[in-house]
Amino acid sequence: MDELERSIGDLVIANRILATENVVDAYGHVSIRHPLKPDRYLLSRSLSPEFVTRDDIIEFKLDGEPIDDKRPPYLERFIHGAIYEARPEINAVVHSHAEDILPFSISKTPMCCVAHVASDKGTHVPVWDIADKFGDETNLLVINMAQGRDMARVLGGNSVVLMRGHGFSAAAEGLLKLVRMAVYLPRNARVLLAAMRLGEFKALSEGEIRTRNKFRPGAPEMQRGWEFWARRAGCGDMLKTSKGGV
Ligand SMILES: [Zn+2]
Repeated sequence: MDELERSIGDLVIANRILATENVVDAYGHVSIRHPLKPDRYLLSRSLSPEFVTRDDIIEFKLDGEPIDDKRPPYLERFIHGAIYEARPEINAVVHSHAEDILPFSISKTPMCCVAHVASDKGTHVPVWDIADKFGDETNLLVINMAQGRDMARVLGGNSVVLMRGHGFSAAAEGLLKLVRMAVYLPRNARVLLAAMRLGEFKALSEGEIRTRNKFRPGAPEMQRGWEFWARRAGCGDMLKTSKGGV
């Protein structure tokens, strides 16, 4: 199995993991930058992530144009290309409607890091409001490159951007880090909301987040997570040829 086939296998595993862990449901999607052609990305056809197989993966240009494929693509695929275009170091992108994060997209309370497992999201999580540039009559979805680029601009150099009343998009150097971040982001939101009900709380410091994020995806403790989530998602047989999300 060649490099491309193994990368596609890991993208299938990531789809299944994110569905099993309730980060995505019927909606939401995850992509990788093409491992051999940096100006392309790989993303499923329009299909719920739980059902994605190798045959569903389509190659796209960064502007969202599919390569030799007539099957319907995700309406919001522009999120992916816009982030890859703006961030050459990014190789994996996810978009989710996880409702636990929504309160932080519609209020003034910042989504700070209170759970150590969520530190991959970094010290700052900006909020993008589509209405700021595109008015108050959109359907809130990112349906063209102009909207994708505006969202990527607000994401900036951060790992996660909340999308007002809609969900979040996240970006990472590799799939394993992306999956970890997407799994733990809604959990961090739940812990933060619970703590706010109790009163004062203490978030992780910038130094703690910096120290935790000396991330080595190939390390045994990180690969343990990939194996755990992949097996839970019914992808144990795919681990034999997996790149470990690296
Ligand atoms: Zn969406």
